[in-house]
Amino acid sequence: MDPPDVSPASPVLAHTSVVVIGAGPAGLVVANRLHDSGVDCVLLEADSRESIERRPRAGFMEEWAVRALAEHGLAERILLHADTQGEFEFRFDGERHTVPTAELSGRRHFVYPQPQLVTDLLASYADKGAGDARFGVRDVRLEGIDGDRPVVSYTDPVTGARHHLACDHIAGCDGARGVARASIPDGAVAVSRRDDGVAWLAVLAQAPPSADGVVFGLHERGFGAHMARSPEVTRYYLQVPPGDTTGNWPHERVWQELRVRLAAGGAPPLTEGPLVEKVVLDMHNYVVEPMSYGRLHLAGDSAHLVAPIAAKGMNLAIHDALLLADALIAADKGEDGGAGEDGNRAGAGGLAAYSQACLRRVWQYQEFSQWFSDVLHGASSGDRFRAGTARARLRRLLEPGHDARAFAGLYMGEEGGALTG
Ligand code: FAD
Repeated sequence: MDPPDVSPASPVLAHTSVVVIGAGPAGLVVANRLHDSGVDCVLLEADSRESIERRPRAGFMEEWAVRALAEHGLAERILLHADTQGEFEFRFDGERHTVPTAELSGRRHFVYPQPQLVTDLLASYADKGAGDARFGVRDVRLEGIDGDRPVVSYTDPVTGARHHLACDHIAGCDGARGVARASIPDGAVAVSRRDDGVAWLAVLAQAPPSADGVVFGLHERGFGAHMARSPEVTRYYLQVPPGDTTGNWPHERVWQELRVRLAAGGAPPLTEGPLVEKVVLDMHNYVVEPMSYGRLHLAGDSAHLVAPIAAKGMNLAIHDALLLADALIAADKGEDGGAGEDGNRAGAGGLAAYSQACLRRVWQYQEFSQWFSDVLHGASSGDRFRAGTARARLRRLLEPGHDARAFAGLYMGEEGGALTG
Protein backbone atom coordinates (compact mmCIF):
# COMPACT_ATOMS: atom_id res chain seq x y z
CA MET A 1 0.00 0.00 0.00
CA ASP A 2 1.27 3.48 -0.83
CA PRO A 3 1.97 5.74 2.15
CA PRO A 4 -0.62 8.53 2.53
CA ASP A 5 0.24 11.65 0.57
CA VAL A 6 0.56 14.46 3.13
CA SER A 7 1.64 17.26 0.82
CA PRO A 8 -0.33 20.46 1.44
CA ALA A 9 -2.13 20.07 -1.90
CA SER A 10 -3.54 16.61 -1.09
CA PRO A 11 -6.22 16.54 1.58
CA VAL A 12 -6.30 13.63 4.03
CA LEU A 13 -9.87 12.34 4.33
CA ALA A 14 -11.31 10.53 7.30
CA HIS A 15 -14.62 9.96 9.04
CA THR A 16 -15.65 10.15 12.66
CA SER A 17 -18.98 10.49 14.46
CA VAL A 18 -18.27 13.76 16.29
CA VAL A 19 -15.57 16.39 15.85
CA VAL A 20 -15.07 18.34 19.08
CA ILE A 21 -13.42 21.71 18.48
CA GLY A 22 -11.59 23.14 21.51
CA ALA A 23 -10.00 21.43 24.52
CA GLY A 24 -11.26 23.73 27.26
CA PRO A 25 -13.54 22.44 30.03
CA ALA A 26 -16.51 22.15 27.65
CA GLY A 27 -14.72 20.26 24.87
CA LEU A 28 -12.90 17.96 27.26
CA VAL A 29 -16.05 16.97 29.11
CA VAL A 30 -17.82 16.24 25.81
CA ALA A 31 -14.86 14.25 24.48
CA ASN A 32 -14.49 12.21 27.68
CA ARG A 33 -18.16 11.33 27.79
CA LEU A 34 -18.34 10.39 24.11
CA HIS A 35 -15.18 8.31 24.26
CA ASP A 36 -16.31 6.50 27.42
CA SER A 37 -19.62 5.68 25.76
CA GLY A 38 -17.97 4.25 22.68
CA VAL A 39 -18.85 7.15 20.36
CA ASP A 40 -16.06 7.77 17.88
CA CYS A 41 -14.73 11.33 18.16
CA VAL A 42 -11.75 13.53 17.36
CA LEU A 43 -10.74 16.47 19.56
CA LEU A 44 -9.10 19.41 17.77
CA GLU A 45 -7.23 22.08 19.76
CA ALA A 46 -5.51 25.14 18.28
CA ASP A 47 -3.05 25.53 21.14
CA SER A 48 -0.38 23.18 22.49
CA ARG A 49 -1.14 20.76 25.31
CA GLU A 50 1.48 22.45 27.55
CA SER A 51 -0.13 25.82 27.02
CA ILE A 52 -3.73 24.82 27.76
CA GLU A 53 -2.62 22.94 30.88
CA ARG A 54 -1.11 26.17 32.21
CA ARG A 55 -3.74 28.75 31.19
CA PRO A 56 -4.98 30.32 34.46
CA ARG A 57 -8.63 31.32 34.63
CA ALA A 58 -11.47 29.99 36.76
CA GLY A 59 -11.17 28.64 40.26
CA PHE A 60 -14.62 27.91 41.65
CA MET A 61 -16.71 24.89 40.81
CA GLU A 62 -20.28 24.55 41.92
CA GLU A 63 -21.17 21.47 43.94
CA TRP A 64 -23.64 20.02 41.42
CA ALA A 65 -20.92 20.26 38.71
CA VAL A 66 -18.43 18.32 40.80
CA ARG A 67 -21.06 15.72 41.63
CA ALA A 68 -22.07 15.38 37.97
CA LEU A 69 -18.42 14.93 36.91
CA ALA A 70 -17.94 12.42 39.74
CA GLU A 71 -20.82 10.32 38.41
CA HIS A 72 -18.75 9.83 35.27
CA GLY A 73 -15.46 9.20 37.06
CA LEU A 74 -14.10 12.64 36.12
CA ALA A 75 -13.75 14.24 39.56
CA GLU A 76 -11.39 11.91 41.39
CA ARG A 77 -8.65 14.49 41.90
CA ILE A 78 -11.11 17.31 42.65
CA LEU A 79 -12.62 15.28 45.47
CA LEU A 80 -9.16 14.40 46.76
CA HIS A 81 -7.48 17.80 46.51
CA ALA A 82 -9.98 20.67 46.31
CA ASP A 83 -10.76 22.86 49.29
CA THR A 84 -14.36 23.81 49.77
CA GLN A 85 -15.72 27.22 50.70
CA GLY A 86 -19.01 28.06 52.31
CA GLU A 87 -18.85 31.76 53.10
CA PHE A 88 -17.42 35.02 51.81
CA GLU A 89 -16.90 38.52 53.07
CA PHE A 90 -18.03 41.94 51.91
CA ARG A 91 -15.91 44.86 53.06
CA PHE A 92 -17.25 48.39 52.84
CA ASP A 93 -17.16 51.57 54.93
CA GLY A 94 -14.23 50.03 56.81
CA GLU A 95 -16.38 47.13 58.09
CA ARG A 96 -16.43 43.37 57.47
CA HIS A 97 -19.65 41.45 56.79
CA THR A 98 -19.61 37.66 56.42
CA VAL A 99 -22.23 35.97 54.21
CA PRO A 100 -22.63 32.31 55.26
CA THR A 101 -23.52 31.01 51.79
CA ALA A 102 -23.28 27.29 52.66
CA GLU A 103 -25.48 27.69 55.72
CA LEU A 104 -28.01 29.66 53.66
CA SER A 105 -28.00 27.39 50.60
CA GLY A 106 -26.85 23.98 51.83
CA ARG A 107 -24.17 23.95 49.11
CA ARG A 108 -20.43 24.57 48.88
CA HIS A 109 -17.99 25.84 46.27
CA PHE A 110 -15.01 23.67 45.35
CA VAL A 111 -11.79 25.62 44.84
CA TYR A 112 -10.09 23.94 41.90
CA PRO A 113 -8.03 25.95 39.40
CA GLN A 114 -9.12 25.55 35.78
CA PRO A 115 -5.66 24.44 34.53
CA GLN A 116 -5.82 21.51 36.96
CA LEU A 117 -9.26 20.55 35.74
CA VAL A 118 -8.07 20.74 32.11
CA THR A 119 -5.00 18.65 32.99
CA ASP A 120 -7.16 16.00 34.70
CA LEU A 121 -9.68 15.82 31.86
CA LEU A 122 -6.92 15.59 29.25
CA ALA A 123 -5.16 12.84 31.18
CA SER A 124 -8.43 10.93 31.36
CA TYR A 125 -9.27 11.35 27.66
CA ALA A 126 -5.92 11.32 25.88
CA ASP A 127 -3.68 9.26 28.18
CA LYS A 128 -5.83 6.84 30.17
CA GLY A 129 -8.48 6.50 27.47
CA ALA A 130 -6.12 6.89 24.48
CA GLY A 131 -8.68 9.21 22.86
CA ASP A 132 -7.81 11.01 19.62
CA ALA A 133 -6.64 14.55 20.51
CA ARG A 134 -4.82 16.73 17.98
CA PHE A 135 -3.06 19.83 19.29
CA GLY A 136 -1.74 22.94 17.54
CA VAL A 137 -4.11 22.51 14.59
CA ARG A 138 -4.17 25.48 12.21
CA ASP A 139 -6.87 27.13 10.14
CA VAL A 140 -9.86 25.07 11.30
CA ARG A 141 -12.81 25.39 8.91
CA LEU A 142 -16.36 24.04 9.06
CA GLU A 143 -18.32 23.19 5.93
CA GLY A 144 -21.77 21.80 5.27
CA ILE A 145 -23.00 22.32 8.83
CA ASP A 146 -26.59 22.63 7.60
CA GLY A 147 -26.38 19.30 5.77
CA ASP A 148 -26.26 15.77 7.20
CA ARG A 149 -22.54 15.15 6.59
CA PRO A 150 -20.56 18.23 7.74
CA VAL A 151 -16.80 18.38 7.27
CA VAL A 152 -14.22 19.95 9.56
CA SER A 153 -10.83 20.63 8.02
CA TYR A 154 -7.55 21.81 9.51
CA THR A 155 -3.88 22.07 8.69
CA ASP A 156 -1.47 19.77 10.49
CA PRO A 157 1.10 21.98 12.26
CA VAL A 158 3.99 19.61 11.53
CA THR A 159 3.43 18.29 8.02
CA GLY A 160 1.38 21.19 6.64
CA ALA A 161 -1.11 18.63 5.26
CA ARG A 162 -4.74 19.66 5.07
CA HIS A 163 -6.98 17.13 6.87
CA HIS A 164 -10.71 16.77 6.25
CA LEU A 165 -12.89 15.04 8.85
CA ALA A 166 -16.38 14.13 7.68
CA CYS A 167 -18.69 13.63 10.66
CA ASP A 168 -22.27 13.36 11.88
CA HIS A 169 -22.07 16.23 14.36
CA ILE A 170 -19.73 19.01 15.46
CA ALA A 171 -19.36 20.14 19.07
CA GLY A 172 -18.25 23.79 18.89
CA CYS A 173 -16.42 24.21 22.20
CA ASP A 174 -13.78 26.70 21.06
CA GLY A 175 -14.49 29.55 23.45
CA ALA A 176 -15.35 33.19 22.92
CA ARG A 177 -12.99 33.79 20.00
CA GLY A 178 -13.29 30.47 18.21
CA VAL A 179 -14.26 29.56 14.71
CA ALA A 180 -17.44 27.52 15.38
CA ARG A 181 -19.82 30.38 16.17
CA ALA A 182 -18.30 32.45 13.36
CA SER A 183 -19.19 29.66 10.88
CA ILE A 184 -22.93 30.13 11.42
CA PRO A 185 -24.43 32.26 8.65
CA ASP A 186 -25.35 35.83 9.63
CA GLY A 187 -28.88 36.08 10.95
CA ALA A 188 -29.32 32.31 11.45
CA VAL A 189 -29.04 32.67 15.24
CA ALA A 190 -29.70 35.62 17.54
CA VAL A 191 -26.81 37.03 19.57
CA SER A 192 -27.84 39.20 22.56
CA ARG A 193 -25.14 41.28 24.20
CA ARG A 194 -24.69 43.37 27.30
CA ASP A 195 -21.67 45.42 28.27
CA ASP A 196 -21.39 46.16 31.98
CA GLY A 197 -19.37 49.29 31.15
CA VAL A 198 -16.53 48.36 33.49
CA ALA A 199 -13.30 46.42 33.24
CA TRP A 200 -11.38 44.40 35.79
CA LEU A 201 -7.66 44.01 36.11
CA ALA A 202 -7.24 40.31 36.97
CA VAL A 203 -3.94 39.41 38.61
CA LEU A 204 -2.53 36.19 39.98
CA ALA A 205 -0.15 36.70 42.86
CA GLN A 206 2.49 34.19 43.88
CA ALA A 207 1.43 34.66 47.47
CA PRO A 208 -0.65 32.74 50.01
CA PRO A 209 -4.25 33.86 50.49
CA SER A 210 -4.78 36.67 53.00
CA ALA A 211 -8.20 35.46 54.10
CA ASP A 212 -9.93 32.10 54.32
CA GLY A 213 -12.32 32.71 51.45
CA VAL A 214 -13.49 35.28 48.95
CA VAL A 215 -13.43 38.95 49.89
CA PHE A 216 -15.35 41.57 47.89
CA GLY A 217 -14.28 45.16 48.64
CA LEU A 218 -16.88 47.78 47.68
CA HIS A 219 -15.25 51.19 47.46
CA GLU A 220 -15.90 54.48 45.74
CA ARG A 221 -12.48 54.19 44.06
CA GLY A 222 -13.69 50.92 42.48
CA PHE A 223 -14.36 47.31 43.35
CA GLY A 224 -11.56 45.02 44.56
CA ALA A 225 -11.54 41.29 45.31
CA HIS A 226 -9.44 38.55 46.84
CA MET A 227 -9.91 34.85 45.98
CA ALA A 228 -7.83 31.98 47.28
CA ARG A 229 -6.65 29.63 44.54
CA SER A 230 -4.12 27.44 46.37
CA PRO A 231 -1.87 27.72 49.44
CA GLU A 232 0.72 29.44 47.20
CA VAL A 233 -1.39 31.42 44.72
CA THR A 234 -4.12 34.05 45.15
CA ARG A 235 -6.26 35.78 42.54
CA TYR A 236 -7.05 39.47 42.95
CA TYR A 237 -9.30 41.73 40.93
CA LEU A 238 -9.37 45.52 40.65
CA GLN A 239 -12.06 47.43 38.80
CA VAL A 240 -10.37 49.68 36.24
CA PRO A 241 -11.73 52.04 33.54
CA PRO A 242 -12.79 50.28 30.30
CA GLY A 243 -9.91 50.32 27.83
CA ASP A 244 -7.26 50.50 30.57
CA THR A 245 -4.07 48.52 30.00
CA THR A 246 -1.85 46.39 32.23
CA GLY A 247 1.03 48.79 31.52
CA ASN A 248 -0.74 51.32 33.76
CA TRP A 249 -0.63 48.87 36.65
CA PRO A 250 2.91 48.27 37.90
CA HIS A 251 3.43 46.02 40.92
CA GLU A 252 3.37 48.74 43.59
CA ARG A 253 0.24 50.44 42.21
CA VAL A 254 -1.68 47.12 42.21
CA TRP A 255 -0.84 46.37 45.84
CA GLN A 256 -1.43 49.97 46.97
CA GLU A 257 -4.90 49.96 45.41
CA LEU A 258 -5.77 46.51 46.78
CA ARG A 259 -4.76 47.64 50.28
CA VAL A 260 -7.14 50.61 50.01
CA ARG A 261 -10.11 48.82 48.47
CA LEU A 262 -9.92 45.73 50.72
CA ALA A 263 -9.26 47.65 53.95
CA ALA A 264 -11.48 47.06 56.98
CA GLY A 265 -11.11 47.21 60.75
CA GLY A 266 -9.63 43.97 62.10
CA ALA A 267 -8.75 42.58 58.64
CA PRO A 268 -5.31 40.97 58.44
CA PRO A 269 -2.85 42.75 56.10
CA LEU A 270 -2.58 41.40 52.54
CA THR A 271 0.25 38.94 52.00
CA GLU A 272 2.03 40.37 48.98
CA GLY A 273 4.04 38.55 46.34
CA PRO A 274 5.12 38.73 42.70
CA LEU A 275 2.33 39.18 40.16
CA VAL A 276 2.62 36.21 37.81
CA GLU A 277 -0.30 37.13 35.54
CA LYS A 278 -1.96 40.44 34.70
CA VAL A 279 -4.81 40.88 32.27
CA VAL A 280 -7.54 43.48 31.73
CA LEU A 281 -10.99 41.95 31.16
CA ASP A 282 -13.90 43.94 29.76
CA MET A 283 -17.02 42.90 31.59
CA HIS A 284 -19.23 41.96 28.70
CA ASN A 285 -21.72 39.17 28.19
CA TYR A 286 -23.52 37.52 25.30
CA VAL A 287 -25.91 34.66 24.59
CA VAL A 288 -26.38 32.83 21.28
CA GLU A 289 -29.90 31.47 20.66
CA PRO A 290 -30.43 28.76 19.70
CA MET A 291 -27.14 27.09 20.57
CA SER A 292 -27.41 24.62 17.67
CA TYR A 293 -27.42 25.31 13.95
CA GLY A 294 -27.82 22.28 11.73
CA ARG A 295 -25.22 19.71 12.81
CA LEU A 296 -23.17 22.25 14.79
CA HIS A 297 -23.84 22.47 18.53
CA LEU A 298 -22.15 25.21 20.56
CA ALA A 299 -21.18 24.64 24.20
CA GLY A 300 -19.52 26.83 26.83
CA ASP A 301 -18.08 30.26 26.05
CA SER A 302 -18.65 29.82 22.33
CA ALA A 303 -22.40 29.92 23.05
CA HIS A 304 -22.47 32.40 25.94
CA LEU A 305 -20.04 34.59 27.76
CA VAL A 306 -20.71 35.55 31.36
CA ALA A 307 -18.31 38.15 32.76
CA PRO A 308 -16.40 36.47 35.63
CA ILE A 309 -18.28 38.59 38.20
CA ALA A 310 -20.06 35.65 39.81
CA ALA A 311 -17.72 32.81 38.71
CA LYS A 312 -20.28 31.17 36.43
CA GLY A 313 -18.61 30.61 33.02
CA MET A 314 -16.80 27.33 33.63
CA ASN A 315 -19.78 25.92 35.48
CA LEU A 316 -22.08 26.72 32.58
CA ALA A 317 -19.54 25.20 30.18
CA ILE A 318 -19.64 21.95 32.17
CA HIS A 319 -23.43 22.01 32.28
CA ASP A 320 -23.71 22.44 28.49
CA ALA A 321 -21.07 19.77 27.89
CA LEU A 322 -22.81 17.13 30.00
CA LEU A 323 -26.13 17.77 28.28
CA LEU A 324 -24.60 17.86 24.82
CA ALA A 325 -22.67 14.64 25.39
CA ASP A 326 -25.85 12.91 26.58
CA ALA A 327 -27.71 14.05 23.48
CA LEU A 328 -24.88 13.08 21.10
CA ILE A 329 -24.59 9.63 22.69
CA ALA A 330 -28.34 9.13 22.34
CA ALA A 331 -28.20 10.28 18.70
CA ASP A 332 -25.29 7.94 17.95
CA LYS A 333 -27.24 5.00 19.37
CA GLY A 334 -30.35 6.01 17.44
CA GLU A 335 -32.19 6.84 20.69
CA ASP A 336 -32.60 10.53 19.98
CA GLY A 337 -36.26 10.75 21.05
CA GLY A 338 -38.64 13.66 21.66
CA ALA A 339 -38.08 16.64 23.92
CA GLY A 340 -37.94 16.01 27.68
CA GLU A 341 -40.78 17.59 29.68
CA ASP A 342 -38.57 19.43 32.15
CA GLY A 343 -35.92 20.26 29.56
CA ASN A 344 -33.32 19.16 32.09
CA ARG A 345 -32.11 15.84 30.70
CA ALA A 346 -31.10 16.31 27.12
CA GLY A 347 -30.61 12.56 26.87
CA ALA A 348 -34.36 12.24 27.04
CA GLY A 349 -34.95 15.24 24.80
CA GLY A 350 -32.20 14.62 22.32
CA LEU A 351 -30.31 17.18 20.28
CA ALA A 352 -33.49 19.07 19.43
CA ALA A 353 -33.96 19.88 23.12
CA TYR A 354 -30.28 20.60 23.84
CA SER A 355 -30.32 24.36 23.36
CA GLN A 356 -33.46 24.96 25.36
CA ALA A 357 -32.23 22.75 28.19
CA CYS A 358 -29.03 24.82 28.49
CA LEU A 359 -30.50 28.27 27.99
CA ARG A 360 -32.71 28.16 31.07
CA ARG A 361 -29.66 28.00 33.33
CA VAL A 362 -27.67 30.36 31.08
CA TRP A 363 -30.25 33.12 31.48
CA GLN A 364 -30.59 32.47 35.24
CA TYR A 365 -26.84 32.95 35.63
CA GLN A 366 -26.70 35.96 33.30
CA GLU A 367 -29.44 37.66 35.31
CA PHE A 368 -27.66 36.91 38.59
CA SER A 369 -24.35 38.12 37.24
CA GLN A 370 -25.91 41.39 36.05
CA TRP A 371 -27.64 41.90 39.41
CA PHE A 372 -24.40 41.21 41.27
CA SER A 373 -22.48 43.55 38.96
CA ASP A 374 -24.82 46.38 39.96
CA VAL A 375 -24.18 45.64 43.65
CA LEU A 376 -20.40 45.43 43.24
CA HIS A 377 -19.97 48.49 41.02
CA GLY A 378 -22.65 50.81 42.45
CA ALA A 379 -20.38 52.52 44.97
CA SER A 380 -17.88 53.54 42.28
CA SER A 381 -20.42 54.51 39.60
CA GLY A 382 -20.17 58.23 40.38
CA ASP A 383 -23.98 58.23 40.36
CA ARG A 384 -25.48 58.82 43.81
CA PHE A 385 -28.75 57.18 42.79
CA ARG A 386 -27.06 53.95 41.60
CA ALA A 387 -24.84 53.94 44.65
CA GLY A 388 -27.92 54.29 46.87
CA THR A 389 -29.86 51.44 45.27
CA ALA A 390 -26.78 49.21 45.28
CA ARG A 391 -26.34 49.88 48.98
CA ALA A 392 -30.02 49.07 49.64
CA ARG A 393 -29.65 45.69 47.85
CA LEU A 394 -26.51 44.96 49.79
CA ARG A 395 -28.17 45.68 53.13
CA ARG A 396 -31.08 43.42 52.19
CA LEU A 397 -28.90 40.44 51.44
CA LEU A 398 -26.93 40.95 54.65
CA GLU A 399 -30.08 40.57 56.73
CA PRO A 400 -31.38 37.08 57.48
CA GLY A 401 -34.41 36.20 55.38
CA HIS A 402 -35.65 35.38 51.93
CA ASP A 403 -33.35 37.74 50.00
CA ALA A 404 -30.23 36.37 51.68
CA ARG A 405 -31.29 32.76 50.98
CA ALA A 406 -32.18 33.51 47.35
CA PHE A 407 -28.86 35.29 46.85
CA ALA A 408 -26.85 32.43 48.41
CA GLY A 409 -28.73 29.86 46.31
CA LEU A 410 -27.81 31.60 43.06
CA TYR A 411 -24.27 32.48 44.16
CA MET A 412 -23.52 28.85 45.01
CA GLY A 413 -25.18 27.59 41.84
CA GLU A 414 -28.53 26.14 41.01
CA GLU A 415 -29.22 22.66 42.28
CA GLY A 416 -30.56 20.04 39.92
CA GLY A 417 -27.74 20.35 37.42
CA ALA A 418 -27.14 18.02 34.54
CA LEU A 419 -27.85 14.40 35.39
CA THR A 420 -28.02 14.98 39.10
CA GLY A 421 -31.80 15.02 39.20
P1 FAD B 1 -12.31 27.80 26.79
O1 FAD B 1 -11.83 27.46 28.15
O2 FAD B 1 -12.03 29.17 26.26
O3 FAD B 1 -11.70 26.72 25.79
C1 FAD B 1 -11.79 26.87 24.39
C2 FAD B 1 -10.64 26.11 23.75
O4 FAD B 1 -10.78 26.18 22.33
C3 FAD B 1 -9.27 26.73 24.07
O5 FAD B 1 -8.39 25.73 24.53
C4 FAD B 1 -8.82 27.34 22.75
O6 FAD B 1 -7.41 27.31 22.59
C5 FAD B 1 -9.52 26.43 21.75
N1 FAD B 1 -9.74 27.06 20.44
C6 FAD B 1 -10.06 28.35 20.15
N2 FAD B 1 -10.19 28.51 18.84
C7 FAD B 1 -9.97 27.29 18.28
C8 FAD B 1 -9.97 26.82 16.93
N3 FAD B 1 -10.24 27.65 15.91
N4 FAD B 1 -9.70 25.53 16.70
C9 FAD B 1 -9.43 24.67 17.73
N5 FAD B 1 -9.41 25.07 19.02
C10 FAD B 1 -9.68 26.36 19.28
N6 FAD B 1 -15.70 30.61 35.40
C11 FAD B 1 -16.15 30.00 36.53
O7 FAD B 1 -17.08 29.18 36.44
N7 FAD B 1 -15.60 30.24 37.75
C12 FAD B 1 -14.58 31.14 37.91
O8 FAD B 1 -14.08 31.30 39.03
C13 FAD B 1 -14.11 31.86 36.75
N8 FAD B 1 -13.07 32.74 36.82
C14 FAD B 1 -12.56 33.30 35.67
C15 FAD B 1 -11.48 34.18 35.77
C16 FAD B 1 -10.95 34.77 34.61
C17 FAD B 1 -9.79 35.71 34.75
C18 FAD B 1 -11.51 34.44 33.34
C19 FAD B 1 -10.94 35.06 32.07
C20 FAD B 1 -12.56 33.59 33.24
C21 FAD B 1 -13.11 33.00 34.40
N9 FAD B 1 -14.19 32.11 34.33
C22 FAD B 1 -14.69 31.53 35.46
C23 FAD B 1 -14.77 31.75 33.02
C24 FAD B 1 -14.17 30.43 32.50
O9 FAD B 1 -12.77 30.48 32.47
C25 FAD B 1 -14.71 30.14 31.09
O10 FAD B 1 -16.11 30.29 31.11
C26 FAD B 1 -14.34 28.73 30.62
O11 FAD B 1 -12.97 28.68 30.26
C27 FAD B 1 -15.17 28.31 29.41
O12 FAD B 1 -14.76 27.04 28.98
P2 FAD B 1 -14.87 26.62 27.43
O13 FAD B 1 -14.40 25.24 27.35
O14 FAD B 1 -16.20 26.99 26.94
O15 FAD B 1 -13.88 27.61 26.66
